[in-house]
Amino acid sequence: MAKLYFSYATMNAGKSTLLLQASYNYRERGMRTAILIAAFDDRAGQGRISSRIGLSADAIAFDRADDLYRHIEELNGEGDDRIACVFVDEAQFLTEEQVWQLARVADRMHIPVMAYGLRTDFQGKLFPGSRALLALADELREVRTICHCGRKATMVVRLGADGKVVKEGAQVEIGGNDKYVSYCRRHWDDIMAAD
Ligand SMILES: [Zn+2]
Repeated sequence: MAKLYFSYATMNAGKSTLLLQASYNYRERGMRTAILIAAFDDRAGQGRISSRIGLSADAIAFDRADDLYRHIEELNGEGDDRIACVFVDEAQFLTEEQVWQLARVADRMHIPVMAYGLRTDFQGKLFPGSRALLALADELREVRTICHCGRKATMVVRLGADGKVVKEGAQVEIGGNDKYVSYCRRHWDDIMAAD
């Protein structure tokens, strides 16, 4: 049975690296993969995923209006042209309906789907895509990174262009110069409580 997987983490945990490595493992064995990425993430340029350690691959950019089931159906072929696995980067930006579309890719087209994304935003709230994935995925995997104190980092702080902590605002700052730093819950709480 093909499954829908959700690998979640905070910022800078190396999700893109894991995605690219997993896709490479399929391709090395002559199998086809499809890599999708939310179109409004322009960090790596439209339709390309880059990891901090230098790996990169072309990706199919999608936006909130796209039907991902139909997309995969059109891409999928017969025999050697069959897609062995679908990868989704920045999965926190999926709509709930798109998460259902990916679940149907697994259930009806029998293609495994591996989604990678952030669990929570800078205010400690679930992203819509992550909420749906946490509810619907067959398997959840936590990608770990650590806080400066050595504890597991599960939270993220947003720093504005001035280097100050941002406590309010939109969930996603498109085209902004904001930086994100990952912390454990205790240190995140300290930072957000400070004046
Ligand atoms: Zn800490």
